[in-house]
Amino acid sequence: MKVRSTAKRASARPSSGSATTRSEGKKKKAGTAPAKYPDIRRDLERQRAAILDEAGEVLTNRPGHEAFPDVSDQASAEVDQNFSMRIRDRERKLLKKIDEALDRMNASTYGICEACGGEIPYKRLKARPVTTLCIECKTVQEEEEQARR
Ligand SMILES: [Zn+2]
Repeated sequence: MKVRSTAKRASARPSSGSATTRSEGKKKKAGTAPAKYPDIRRDLERQRAAILDEAGEVLTNRPGHEAFPDVSDQASAEVDQNFSMRIRDRERKLLKKIDEALDRMNASTYGICEACGGEIPYKRLKARPVTTLCIECKTVQEEEEQARR
């Protein structure tokens, strides 16, 4: 009987978790991962919103958009088609890269070079927030791509 009660208690693991949440809990909400690059995340989200806003201008019937009065009368299926067509290929690729970068932020793998596993310097991330390679690996990749042509 006594053995059973201690087995139950052992699974709770009281020491390891509570110490860290106490020291970090004041700065951030419980449950959210610590943001390593908060300003770059803001840049990415702003860029993402700008692309979507530009591409989706046809969709929204905002009062200030009387420059396109005919749009509101069109069928929604047609507008959907316009929406996907309006996002140009380059923007769609960039949008995908932004989403992937935000995913990596959520997974705490952001800023780590995919090729060598090293940390990508902040300056490079700030300049190219969607990059997945450090400057050395990017140079190698570009040289390989040029050699293939
Ligand atoms: Zn690298």
